Amino acid sequence: MQFKKIVGQQAVKQKLINAVSGNRVAHTMLFLGPEGAGALPLAIAFAQYVNCTNKQNGDSCGKCPSCVKYEKFAHPDLHFIFPTTTNDTVKKDPESALFTNEWRDYLQKNQAYVTQNGWYGYLGVGNKQGSIYARDANQVIKKLGLKAYEAEYKVVIIYLAEKLNASASNKLLKSLEEPPDNTLIILVAERYEMIIPTVRSRAQLVKIPRLSNKDIQQALLAENFSGLTEVQAEQLAVLANGNWNQALDLKDENDENEFNFLKFRDWMRLCFRPADYLDLYALIQDLSRLGREKQKRFLTYGLKVIHSCLIVTNGLGDKVPANEDEKNYFIKFAPFINAANQKQIYQLLNEAVYHIERNAHPGILFADLSFQFIELLKAGRKFS
Ligand SMILES: [Zn+2]
Repeated sequence: MQFKKIVGQQAVKQKLINAVSGNRVAHTMLFLGPEGAGALPLAIAFAQYVNCTNKQNGDSCGKCPSCVKYEKFAHPDLHFIFPTTTNDTVKKDPESALFTNEWRDYLQKNQAYVTQNGWYGYLGVGNKQGSIYARDANQVIKKLGLKAYEAEYKVVIIYLAEKLNASASNKLLKSLEEPPDNTLIILVAERYEMIIPTVRSRAQLVKIPRLSNKDIQQALLAENFSGLTEVQAEQLAVLANGNWNQALDLKDENDENEFNFLKFRDWMRLCFRPADYLDLYALIQDLSRLGREKQKRFLTYGLKVIHSCLIVTNGLGDKVPANEDEKNYFIKFAPFINAANQKQIYQLLNEAVYHIERNAHPGILFADLSFQFIELLKAGRKFS
């Protein structure tokens, strides 16, 4: 990971680069920053930079043998320790060493912008919380005792130092205090007050601030998401509150909302004037192919449409939480959602969510719903 891939954080990058050129790299550091600010990506980029054999313009080259391995998070002298817990494959005594492949995959998929909950979700551990155990500390001590394979600096990155349990912390104190020569230990953490004081006092603190809205906006635009305008990127940045992960999640939510809006509107149009069954059939096929969770959210979106139409009918259209396109649609559609059908449509959508959860066949379900909607919209049309 090169510095140039990091979102914002110019000042922190410059400080780190200066420390290297001034030979002032502390052997134990604590990168402290809130979720989504980039503390872990910065730690990795820094370690890659330190070990790059062809540093240029304040960044690692990305191409030397060391960088190539770092880019894959798989350098033999780069070790990661992170919280783990039992899951379907590791049923007892979890430790980082047993999850190395999963961790690398997870880092790759997210370009090192990982979150604690995202990691647990990736491991499929349900609601269990992870920890860093004495077993992990033993691994660190063992790794630090070995000679570096090929790198100038052997690096240990401990992701979420606040998850070090008491015995792991105690075991590590000596290593943190006096790491062997040419060793870099980087603790990454989000909550300073949760790190055991004897651990945090041994590390040089590098504060990673929340990202600025401007940095998030620019990074979103740099991703070249199709259809994302400057104004939308700005709005997302404000909502993301300095958290890059949050910005990406919001972007996905926005996309899904837009998809649901367009599909639901098409669906209702085809049911309203069912002249062309082929189009309706094609749309049913599209909906059937969505994953179950997406189908549930699509149907739930339908409930929102019906609910919004009722609000519009009652003269409170301004109060509907929706974007302009949605509002315009609700105003047009509202007259046809009335006493003749509103209750039944609402009930059908609700039941459909229930059936999807219980593995109903989606093709049959959406076809059946369509035929019922055709009748119900006919009734609504007569009534309006
Ligand atoms: Zn390099």
